[in-house]
Amino acid sequence: MASRPDPYATLGVDKKASADEIKKAYRKLARQYHPDRNPGDKKAEERFKEISQAHDILGDPDKRKDYDRASGPFGFGGAGGPPPGGFDVGGFGDILSNLFGGAAGGRAGGGARGRTQGQPGRDLETEVRLSFEQAVDGAQVPLAVPTSTQCTTCHGTGAKPGTSPRVCPQCQGRGVEAEGQGLFSISQPCTRCGGAGTVIDEPCPTCEGAGSTRTVKKLRVNIPAGVRDSSRIKLAGKGEPGRRGGPPGDLYVVTRVSESPIFKRKGDHLEVEVPLTIPEAIRGATIEVPTLHGTKKLRVPAGTKHGTVQRLRGEGPPLLNAKGRGDIHYRFVIDVPATLSEEQKEAVDELSKVINGDPRARLFAAREGKAKV
Ligand SMILES: [Zn+2]
Ligand SMILES: [Zn+2]
Repeated sequence: MASRPDPYATLGVDKKASADEIKKAYRKLARQYHPDRNPGDKKAEERFKEISQAHDILGDPDKRKDYDRASGPFGFGGAGGPPPGGFDVGGFGDILSNLFGGAAGGRAGGGARGRTQGQPGRDLETEVRLSFEQAVDGAQVPLAVPTSTQCTTCHGTGAKPGTSPRVCPQCQGRGVEAEGQGLFSISQPCTRCGGAGTVIDEPCPTCEGAGSTRTVKKLRVNIPAGVRDSSRIKLAGKGEPGRRGGPPGDLYVVTRVSESPIFKRKGDHLEVEVPLTIPEAIRGATIEVPTLHGTKKLRVPAGTKHGTVQRLRGEGPPLLNAKGRGDIHYRFVIDVPATLSEEQKEAVDELSKVINGDPRARLFAAREGKAKV
C-alpha cells in the first residue's frame, strides 16, 4: 500500500509485454481472484480491484501510453494529465491517483472505498467587455458568473444533515461495473450511483441531493494591462467547486475589447493613420500626433511619400508576456482635397508649372530600353 502499485507488476508482465500477453495475464489473474470465486475474502476483492485497474490502463493502448509517459523519467507533470475526453466518472484520473498513492491519506471517512478523490469542479467561461483604454491600461472589473456552489446545508455531500452517503451496493464503491460475465467484461460507469461510488438514501432538502446549488458568483477580476480582443484569462480555482472533495475548476475570462477610433492593434503594436497636407508632405513639418496618454511631436521629413510609416518606440501598449511596451506606428496619408476653390485651382495650376515632368516616364523607359536591344 505504501508503494505505488505498478500495473505491470500487478499483472506480472514485462514493460514491453504485447497486448496479447497483457490480456492473457489479466484473464488468468481475474479468474483466480474473482469475487464470485472468493466470497467474503476481502484480500481477494482488493486484489481483484487492483487487477481490474491495472487492466483498465494497460488494456487500452492510449492509456497505456499515457501511463508510460507519466511514470517515465519526467514524472507525472505536464503531459501526463487525465486524457481529454476520457470518461470522467471513476475515470483515469482517479485510477492514476490511486495508483500513485497521491491522495492516499485523504480517504474520506464514510466515503467510497478505493476512491480517494472526488470529481473536479467544472471550468467556467465568461466574457468581459472592456473599453480600448481599459484593455491597454488594465482594469479591475466586476463580474457576475452563473455557477453552482457547495450546498451549505449538507456541505456538498448531498445527504440530509445527520445522514451520510453510503457505499454503492451495486459497484461496491468502485464507481464502475462490469457488463457481461467475468473475463470478457466491459467496464462502464455504475448505473446505480452514476460513477460516484456512493448512494444517498435521504437527499438533502436544500439541494435535492446534488450537493450544490445554483448561484451567481460575484467577483472582481484584475485585467492585466495590454490584453487584446479575445484574450483568455485563466483564473485558477475560480470555477465550480469540486464534488466530494475534488479540486475546483478554473474560470476563463474572455475579453471583448471595443475598438478605438484612433488606434488599431497590429500584433504587439498600434497603428495610427496620420493625414498630411500636400504642402506638409512636400516641404516637411513638425506635427503633433496622439499617443496613448497625450501627444508627441513628430518630425515629418520633406518629400514624405504617401504610406510612409514612422515609429515611436515603447509608446504602445504593455506587452502581455514580456517586459516593456510595443510601439506606435504612424502611417502618413496625404490628404487630397475632394474639391477645390477657384483660388486653390489657380494655386495648383501655378504649382504644376513649377513641378512638372512625367513621373511615369520610367515605367516606359525600361520597356523601350529593352525594345532597343
Ligand atoms: Zn445539500
Ligand atoms: Zn455504484
